[in-house]
Amino acid sequence: MQSLKRRYKYLQMLSLLFVSVLLLLMPFFLNTYYVRLLQLIGIYVLLATGLNLVTGYTGQVSLGHGGLYGIGAYTSALLATKLGLSFWVALPLSILVAAVFGVILGFPSLRIRGPYLAMVTIGFGIIIEKIMVEWTGLTGGPIGIMGIPTPQIGKFLFTGNRMYFLILFLVGIGLVVAHNLINSKWGRAFVAIRENEIAAGAMGINVREFKVIAFTLSAAYAGAAGSLYSHLSGYISPDSFTFNFSIFSLLLIVVGGMGTIVGPVIGAAVLTFLPEVLHGFDKYRLLIYGVLLIISVLAMQEGIVGLIKRKISSNDMPQDSNQYLPEKKTLKVGFLKTVRRNFNGSILELVNVSKSFGGLTAVNRLNMKVVEGTIHSLIGPNGAGKSTVINLISGFYRPTSGEIKFKGRVVSVFETHIQAKSGIARTFQNVQLYQKASVLDNVLVGMHLRINEGFWGTCLKLPAVRRSENLARQEAMALLRFLGLERYAEMPAEKLPYGHQKLLEIARALALQPDLLLLDEPAAGLNETEVVELAKIITQIKEKGVTVLLVEHQMNLVMEISDYITVIDYGKKIAEGPPEVIQNDQTVIQAYLGTEVA
Ligand code: ADP
Ligand code: MG
Repeated sequence: MQSLKRRYKYLQMLSLLFVSVLLLLMPFFLNTYYVRLLQLIGIYVLLATGLNLVTGYTGQVSLGHGGLYGIGAYTSALLATKLGLSFWVALPLSILVAAVFGVILGFPSLRIRGPYLAMVTIGFGIIIEKIMVEWTGLTGGPIGIMGIPTPQIGKFLFTGNRMYFLILFLVGIGLVVAHNLINSKWGRAFVAIRENEIAAGAMGINVREFKVIAFTLSAAYAGAAGSLYSHLSGYISPDSFTFNFSIFSLLLIVVGGMGTIVGPVIGAAVLTFLPEVLHGFDKYRLLIYGVLLIISVLAMQEGIVGLIKRKISSNDMPQDSNQYLPEKKTLKVGFLKTVRRNFNGSILELVNVSKSFGGLTAVNRLNMKVVEGTIHSLIGPNGAGKSTVINLISGFYRPTSGEIKFKGRVVSVFETHIQAKSGIARTFQNVQLYQKASVLDNVLVGMHLRINEGFWGTCLKLPAVRRSENLARQEAMALLRFLGLERYAEMPAEKLPYGHQKLLEIARALALQPDLLLLDEPAAGLNETEVVELAKIITQIKEKGVTVLLVEHQMNLVMEISDYITVIDYGKKIAEGPPEVIQNDQTVIQAYLGTEVA
């Protein structure tokens, strides 16, 4: 598999080299008409790459990118014609202005999603278009702006082929930067948000912040594209930035392949050349786009890139994925911390904590102390309120009353990413993975808070970022090895059998290097051998100094590994003590027998 991957990479590099050389030679063989088409394709690639960041990677549909593109184009045009600024100043300013509007467009995504968000973005695009048409004094109204100068350095004018090379150069930068960002903690945060916002927050990703970042970045690309378009054509009018154009932008990434770097490139090339090939069908252009959109969504959900990928990689998956064969577990260099005892014994304390949902009190005046360095189990019949306790501690819910203290400090802000930051990691009763992301990437998302990759450094892929990325990968692999998942590293998480998915959640949670690990029914759905393995794993986690709060139904497991047990029923604590005591406690036995009979 390793050699296969290397050959893959080799092939990729080779085709990249080939395409680059081809693109460099192209203008010397083509007439101006086709050079102009290539220039347009380049601009669309930039625009689509930006849209891809927000829609393809972060999963926030935007139908307002025509507006952002227009903002870039008009900013450049106005700066150049009214203030006489050169392209080299107008371009960065257009990027900046568009980015600011990106922030604005991003805000609705914090409250609404899916079709509602799409509608708001449509509204945004329409408003921008209306402003271009109506604000005649500034924008020239429906007639637009003429006489936008060609970029130049001194007497050197970027006309024809020169403009082509300039665009090619800028597109190249845009693609490299996008590629660098995507293969870093930034890109992984985007994908985590797309795949599972809940789990993204639980791993310490500030979901709201990263959504706005995605929109801002995306808008910056649209701004650059718009500015280039302005200076290329020398003339702009609102007609170029309509709602139709926003749909066209979305089509570029849908047809090419969302969530891949080459997708927008292929999409832009296909959708720009296609109308030329079908010259006589100009009347039907929109119809053809519509049909293409339907085909893409129905038949090839990952676009052209997806089709190609499936052809190549259908058989490089491990075949024995249903066989649970635990591998040798060697705990590698410090991927778990060693014990630090300094919280007067109890790392977590619940004081009179209650949580009600409407009239239902799911947790009722619960008092509980979890001693650092122990495995503390929380048990009780179904519906007793165990998961609610986990959700309270991890910041998903705010208690109706009472106090939660972690490391001696009262938790005041109930936000999942802040709880993660303070050292609490969790798994979920119903598996919450980033399904389409690889097993390795799932674990890497868990390291989000610990990976130190600044934005600009990542854009440029500085050596420090490269090193940090390598280290993170090694550590993630060590974690996967610890849980016997190493050989599935490259597989999408959704392809793993259920038991392995549960283990992957543990690996991802451990990647935070938490002080407290909350496990919500980790043994549910595992077979007997797997449960035995799990017991060993949890014990090893404790030995490494991580405190474990375990919610579990499998009594053998609980009694075997717990240091202390709290039993709740109907949200109330009914017993607590070491396993030997709980095993013989009459109230506990009754609570359990009661539900079993029922
Ligand atoms: P357990 O994990 O012990 O099986 P839960 O904590 O999931 O129990 O649920 C405790 C009670 O709270 C149940 O009656 C459940 O229906 C209710 N409950 C849990 N979460 C919610 C919610 N978000 N909204 C309304 N009721 C909830
Ligand atoms: Mg539960």
